[in-house]
Amino acid sequence: MKILVTGGAGFIGSAVVRYLINETDCEVINVDKLTYAGNLDSLADVAASPRYSFYQVDIRSKNALDEIFAAQQPDAVMHLAAESHVDRSIEGPQAFIETNIVGTYTLLEAARSYWNRLDAPRQAAFRFHHISTDEVYGDLEPQDPAFTETTAYAPSSPYSASKASSDHLVRSWHRTFGLPVVLSNCSNNYGPFHFPEKLIPHVILNALQGQPLPVYGDGAQVRDWLFVEDHARALYAVVSRGEVGQTYNIGGHNEKTNLQVVHTLCDLLEERGAVKPEGVAHFRDLITFVKDRPGHDKRYAVDAGKIHAHLGWTPQETFETGMRKTVDWYLENSPWWARVLSGDYALERLGEHATESVEA
Ligand code: NAD
Repeated sequence: MKILVTGGAGFIGSAVVRYLINETDCEVINVDKLTYAGNLDSLADVAASPRYSFYQVDIRSKNALDEIFAAQQPDAVMHLAAESHVDRSIEGPQAFIETNIVGTYTLLEAARSYWNRLDAPRQAAFRFHHISTDEVYGDLEPQDPAFTETTAYAPSSPYSASKASSDHLVRSWHRTFGLPVVLSNCSNNYGPFHFPEKLIPHVILNALQGQPLPVYGDGAQVRDWLFVEDHARALYAVVSRGEVGQTYNIGGHNEKTNLQVVHTLCDLLEERGAVKPEGVAHFRDLITFVKDRPGHDKRYAVDAGKIHAHLGWTPQETFETGMRKTVDWYLENSPWWARVLSGDYALERLGEHATESVEA
């Protein structure tokens, strides 16, 4: 299969690209604008593969997308490109509307005009896989059952509302135009190559630098955590074997409060012998409670029974094994995160890495 992956330089996208190159014989066409969240360092191990190519392109650029579809003739699209950070969506929602809604619309239109020109067998085999989040379902009370694929949408933040909008667009392109789509909605991911603005890498790196470990409100918000490489395997199962028109919820069966996550990270850093900055007796001493995020969802939990029953997928990592792998990865890969923290990762993105560079 030749797969056009959007957002392949991001956290989950790069895990998907590494999985496709290392664990399958798929060809990968990575289409990524390289926003602050896109990092080609995360693809260093696979970038030289003859089965990998990269286009530095904004998904709102219809002409550029048309050219890529025509030149590359993909069998499937895995659409991960998005603005993904809830706090940024509160500070500045516009980029979320532009990329997550307008960008998805533009990609759907490019895929549709390409798909319309395919012959019947290739039309039938084509897949447009939209990657989304459990946050579209809103939040849960402690006693509520986990989200299923039929839970009503009730997004709370500009981020989740823009992802919900894009999910609706994708379903309507299937119903109205017949585009063969599949969707997946996943819980919170963690693992290697995670941009340090997100909770888990932020806590690890702040702890190593002796800086406060900020916890929103009382830290009682519950998230269902999934190791990113388990998500990549699930996504490949969905794009290669999922039924057209279906949605699959993906989750790790790991409901933890944010405070439990921070405690686990502090304890793992102690256990792994991480060097403590001067004056820090215990990593837990750095925990600092800060003003809660507006509209903060209380609890997410995903029922992943359908993807298990239909596609045979279950996570390979438990919360304990995945968190240990993650902490070890950050301890062993300081050059990766040092270049992110210094901003150096973004200096080399003026087009020379791209197979092609196209302005939006
Ligand atoms: P990320 O922010 O790490 O990466 C996003 C990638 O998209 C970056 O490489 C960025 O350069 C690229 N991008 C952004 N705007 C673009 C544009 N206009 N054109 C082309 N490329 C653009 O995000 P992530 O955490 O890897 O999430 C990937 C997808 O998975 C998103 O759609 C997100 O909604 C979804 N998701 C994320 C999580 C999670 O826990 N991180 C959970 C469930 C679903």
